[in-house]
Amino acid sequence: MNKTSLHEQTARKRQIAILGSTGSIGTQALQVIEEHSDLYEAYALTANNNVELLIEQARRHQPDVVVIANEAHYTTLRDALADLPIKVYAGSDALNEVVEAEPIDMVLASMVGYAGLRPTMNAIRAGKAIALANKETLVVAGELVTQLALEHRVPILPVDSEHSAIFQCLAGEAHNPIEKLLLTASGGPFRTWSMEQLQHATREQALKHPNWDMGAKITIDSASMMNKGFEVIEAKWLFDVTPEQIEVVVHPQSVIHSMVQFADGSVKAQLGTPDMRLPIQYAFSYPQRLSLSSQRLDFSTLSSLTFEQPDPVRFRNLALSFKALERGGNMPCILNAANEVCVAAFLKERIGFLQMSDVIEQTMQRTSFITSPTYDDYVATDAAARRIAEELITHNS
Ligand code: MG
Repeated sequence: MNKTSLHEQTARKRQIAILGSTGSIGTQALQVIEEHSDLYEAYALTANNNVELLIEQARRHQPDVVVIANEAHYTTLRDALADLPIKVYAGSDALNEVVEAEPIDMVLASMVGYAGLRPTMNAIRAGKAIALANKETLVVAGELVTQLALEHRVPILPVDSEHSAIFQCLAGEAHNPIEKLLLTASGGPFRTWSMEQLQHATREQALKHPNWDMGAKITIDSASMMNKGFEVIEAKWLFDVTPEQIEVVVHPQSVIHSMVQFADGSVKAQLGTPDMRLPIQYAFSYPQRLSLSSQRLDFSTLSSLTFEQPDPVRFRNLALSFKALERGGNMPCILNAANEVCVAAFLKERIGFLQMSDVIEQTMQRTSFITSPTYDDYVATDAAARRIAEELITHNS
């Protein structure tokens, strides 16, 4: 399809900016856009470092703009796309500005970690609908971000599979109050491991998730259950519930993606095969459902769905997340910063698997607490917590 014929129809096509297009969510989002090219068009693609894949994606999807965050790759990117009418930018300021472009209808925030906060806030200020895959944005600054979205009347549509499941369960429930959210968790690769085994868990073992194929950061977070802790915090902000209304249920088959319990005791669940294209697509098309050529659940082979309580002793990150959420203020920001430093250190084999929770807990104790943080306070907290976590790691190793 050439550019001119596409543009003739753009009036009807939703223009989507994908922040983090080369990651696991980003690449699957491009598959969704391709499958529904009559409805969606990639307006902007951004990546942090993976310039080769960004070039390939830009040539295939012909966005209006591409941004590479790491400026060292700028000339490579520009030269590779020189024959195409694509604007090429580099650096984090360009990343923050690109989301404001007038034609963009929706921004898919699918970059990794704290880096997602600023561009997501900019997109909200510019009035863009947000499809949120970057959970750290709500973990770090949930109150600020949800408040901002409310002010600008911008919807935040969840892409995380659990939150999409809850969102789907809430369709048609209007103002029926939620009694409880039941967040399911696969339990990750170490679900049945003893403390002794966890002590010696390696990077390679942690990187093997039983059900989902994801990026390194989130896979380690899944193994340590920090991912579920983050999802608890994310759920609080997305669905306006108290921490007491959120229960984590370990469900190793990952067939039920989460559930909602209502005032009459009725529990609604959303089920499906583990395929992230569904929540991505639902965020794009909500409230409509579009076709998706994914594998279907086969109940003739699905023999059992099992459920367990999470173990807060072996998986302390979950307890630390609830603690951070109950404390509020900048505590979840501290939790996130310490975790990002710990995961990076664990991936470099600088600390052991169980040490990550030790460092996170100590960082939470040592970083200055702020009850009602501003954006600048979050930036300062993030930097301070990273420094403290880094010191703790260097001291311990
Ligand atoms: Mg999830």
